[in-house]
Amino acid sequence: MTAPRFNYSYKQTNLTYSFGSFSESAPAQKTAPAPAIKKIVIVGGGSSGWMAAMIFANAFIKKGIEITLLESPTVGIIGVGEGSTPWLRGFFDSLDIEESEWMPEVNATYKCGITFDKWSTRPGFESYFHPFASMLDNLTLGMFIHNVEARLNGADVYAHPNRFFIATRLAENCMAPKPSHSFPFDIWYGYHFDAVLLGQYLHKKAEQRGVKYKSCHVADVKLNERGDIAAVTTREGETIAADFFIDCTGFAGVLIQKALGTPFIPFANNLFNDSAIAMPTPMDEKIPSQTVSTAMRHGWKWKIPLTSRYGNGYVYSSAFCSADEAERELRESLGLLDSKTEARHLKMKTGRCTKHWNRNCLAVGLSQGFIEPLEATALLFNQRTATTFVEFFEAGDMSERAQERFNQRLNEHFEGTRDYIVTHYKTNSRTDTEYWRANAANMNLSDSLKQIYSMWTAGKSIAAEVGRQAIGKGYPIFSWYSIMSGMGLFPSQKDLRPAPAGRAYDMAEIDNLLERSALNFRDQREVLADIPKKRKESAMQIYFW
Ligand SMILES: Cc1cc2nc3c(=O)[nH]c(=O)nc-3n(C[C@H](O)[C@H](O)[C@H](O)COP(=O)(O)OP(=O)(O)OC[C@H]3O[C@@H](n4cnc5c(N)ncnc54)[C@H](O)[C@@H]3O)c2cc1C
Repeated sequence: MTAPRFNYSYKQTNLTYSFGSFSESAPAQKTAPAPAIKKIVIVGGGSSGWMAAMIFANAFIKKGIEITLLESPTVGIIGVGEGSTPWLRGFFDSLDIEESEWMPEVNATYKCGITFDKWSTRPGFESYFHPFASMLDNLTLGMFIHNVEARLNGADVYAHPNRFFIATRLAENCMAPKPSHSFPFDIWYGYHFDAVLLGQYLHKKAEQRGVKYKSCHVADVKLNERGDIAAVTTREGETIAADFFIDCTGFAGVLIQKALGTPFIPFANNLFNDSAIAMPTPMDEKIPSQTVSTAMRHGWKWKIPLTSRYGNGYVYSSAFCSADEAERELRESLGLLDSKTEARHLKMKTGRCTKHWNRNCLAVGLSQGFIEPLEATALLFNQRTATTFVEFFEAGDMSERAQERFNQRLNEHFEGTRDYIVTHYKTNSRTDTEYWRANAANMNLSDSLKQIYSMWTAGKSIAAEVGRQAIGKGYPIFSWYSIMSGMGLFPSQKDLRPAPAGRAYDMAEIDNLLERSALNFRDQREVLADIPKKRKESAMQIYFW
């Protein structure tokens, strides 16, 4: 069986993110001299544009490559996307930017994971926390998997994920996942931040690091005789040529989709949501260190804590309710029915391009595809796409076969992540609306997902299967166990039998262990007031391998 151990590093090594099996696809072989790219043009100044600009500036400017970012003065950024995965830590680390510098500028907070509330109605499983697991959890992770598998096979043991992970304990108590100096384990965490401020901050940093910026609207894209992009022409009357183009134009996909005609595979059959509404509310006295995702009548609501406010939003399907109905439901749930607070309505296009890298164009961000805001994975795709491209470039292989490998790798990550997101909907047990019933009945599932479900239902361990299949490239084993157990996919209580002696872990012992570990952490508001500078991470290096 694949060892259910936490062994990831958010750090970049040789420009590859070590992400479980992600790191096992070897960098491209050095088969050709580095291509003659002297000028890169990025179109789009949302978070994907500026993240790509920073990653490319770091890797390419020292090689004499010029990078220019063009941003439309008339098309705004999407302005949502306020939660991250832990991998964002690797992004800032690789750029040598301290948390104490960037976090205050974008009103950022620490994130230990996500609570999923009211997705399941199964008794005892109405809410669960999907934690960011850490090295410290290696002890309890094995116990968690053991108990889950025992309960799946009918033993009456505790198997809800909430009592097995340190991150859950921290989130429940609004604590920051920054341990005291004497603590020997690194804790895995993500962030929440203001999306608009993050874009502005990265813009400032990218210009400081040599990226050129032009405010102009790309009106046309010129292809050369081979079908590659030769230049873009702007509404302001300029023609801007480059050797390589990065499409960061958001859902518009101006270069990758419109100009190059790259086919787009919609996820609408798997994921029904296509709309969202965003609204802020004031912050409480305590600043939570988690995102809360609450199921609503026709979708779900996010609640993201920043230092300045909460960001709230309702992601729903317009096939099942109108925008007015959704806004009313969101306002009601936030206590804003009579408030003048403005609601921002957005449309979403879920799916992915068949090729993220096509000819001399790389799509980064919403232009390459989007799964769903649930689990907040989009910035990770921006980061992965740009860093993987740098990795291929550094290896000197820009051939068609390299492009195929690159696209296959990203497509597997898209599909694996999509399947994990689909699982939230498929396993729901709500019956209050047609939306939830249709989600539970939806059989548009990948073969991989069908296989995982049928193994689980048969009471078999899914660990090896998740590790073996591409599905494991989206989410690791403990996440699969967290969602399946957190949603309460077990035999019903009346069918359980007492666990054989010595086969159930003593929960009091685990509670005690986590209780003692939590003493090393402090209140999030306190920590944010004085964000610790990076310290030598020698102890942590020993544990990551
Ligand atoms: C409801 C919702 C919630 C989300 N929540 C999360 C989350 O919690 N976590 C997460 O990681 N992600 C989240 N996302 C995704 C996140 O918003 C995006 O990943 C991210 O911000 C990147 O967007 P972008 O830069 O690709 O596009 P945009 O922000 O739309 O930027 C597009 C840019 O392209 C420019 N542009 C467009 N057309 C032209 C043109 N013709 N010429 C020149 N410039 C042009 C625009 O001016 C703009 O600067 C969410 C998305 C939605 C819809």
